[in-house]
Amino acid sequence: MSKSAFRTLLPLSLALLITACSPDTVAKQSSNIATPTVITQNTKAKNVIIFIGDGMGVSTITAARIFDGQSKGLKGEEHSLAFEEFNNIALIKTYNTNAQVPDSAGTATAILSGYKTNIGAVNVRPNESVKKMVLESCVLKKSPPTLTAQAKKAGLSVGVISTARITHATPAAMYGHSVDRGWEMDSDVDPRAAKARCKGLASQLMKSPPDIILGGGREKFTKEQLNAWEEKPGYIYVKDAQELRAAPKDQTILGLFTPSHMSYEADRDDAKEPSLAEMTGFAIDALSSRGTGYVLMVEAGRVDHAHHGTNAFRALTDMQALNEAVKTAKDKAGDDTLILVTADHSHVFTMSGYPVRGNPILGLVRNPNPEDGGAAKDYAKAGDGKPYTTLGYHNGPNVREEHSPALTDNMVQGKDFLQQTAVQMETETHAGEDVPLYARGPGAEKVRGVMEQNEIHDVMASALGWK
Ligand SMILES: [Zn+2]
Repeated sequence: MSKSAFRTLLPLSLALLITACSPDTVAKQSSNIATPTVITQNTKAKNVIIFIGDGMGVSTITAARIFDGQSKGLKGEEHSLAFEEFNNIALIKTYNTNAQVPDSAGTATAILSGYKTNIGAVNVRPNESVKKMVLESCVLKKSPPTLTAQAKKAGLSVGVISTARITHATPAAMYGHSVDRGWEMDSDVDPRAAKARCKGLASQLMKSPPDIILGGGREKFTKEQLNAWEEKPGYIYVKDAQELRAAPKDQTILGLFTPSHMSYEADRDDAKEPSLAEMTGFAIDALSSRGTGYVLMVEAGRVDHAHHGTNAFRALTDMQALNEAVKTAKDKAGDDTLILVTADHSHVFTMSGYPVRGNPILGLVRNPNPEDGGAAKDYAKAGDGKPYTTLGYHNGPNVREEHSPALTDNMVQGKDFLQQTAVQMETETHAGEDVPLYARGPGAEKVRGVMEQNEIHDVMASALGWK
């Protein structure tokens, strides 16, 4: 046997060994677990939907679970979000190649393209020299293919949805390459890089577009680009929710609903901007009607933005919007669909003190009353003699100081309240701890233990039967 034949056969025999072992292992596992969701084992996924809650760390999920429960009249702690019912869960290590606490560009590259890179880079391999990254990406065009390119090559249809600008780091990582995430349109590109033929992300999107593109960020496209799109047969451009509702589902659709990011869910006008759930439903209908199988990425992009402003109310209401979108996917997508829900990174968002069960999650802390098990009459007091909130941030603009006014429940539960912080920063920062990955459907069984973020791509690729 020649060496190369041996190399071809070795993976095959390994694959057979794994197939022979796995039903037994699976049976053993499933006999111990009460399963609310049916998992289809050892079959190929026809479709993959990946949800990314930008900045959705574990504390955000717990607070959102309670917030959503309390909005339904429950105490909240016992409530579950739609993806918390998925059986397969892993913890994800989020660091970028050169950063302990990552950003969305490097993490989205890991999740969607399968390799880690530098903080701030979108789908360009890491290098200590930016010049070399420009050379590889723009001059030699040797960056590994995007998930959109991989899916198209495999004959699948593709959808990209975000409540952020569609040229923002996370959605851009579905279709584009950029040494700097800030190069959203051609005029944003550093002149030296432009000379080396680097293109803005909007131009790259126009050149090889996914089938369904829905989000914000109209201002990052030129009039010429949008006109050219509309002139192409089979290409539709929609500017508001009404136009989306009337749009045919068998065309290539670009929906740009706002000049910059879409509105927070708490401020959204339903006549003008579709919800994340509506966009998800539209995309699933449109992509599944093509019969090709599909890959769909849905980003709740503004959980992150609300956190950067230490505005927990809007972070949690955008989490509710994400939860509704996941529900839509669970309802609409069949058993042949792998659904993943994860975050790119966490935030320095904490839930603390010893509030009584059912204490309003956005509220001031009241401890349990040991006499009757209810809430203490008075608010719990910090060292400065003043009440404090359950939710807070380690850093950000609104530092709690001696002269800070005493907080009232009215004030802190309002939608514009900015939670207090400990360390003064112009904007609150990301956090570096692991984030969860939830999975259900064919291929979900690979989601387990502590994983590197780039392995998420491999879970999708293997579920779809790609090499
Ligand atoms: Zn961020």
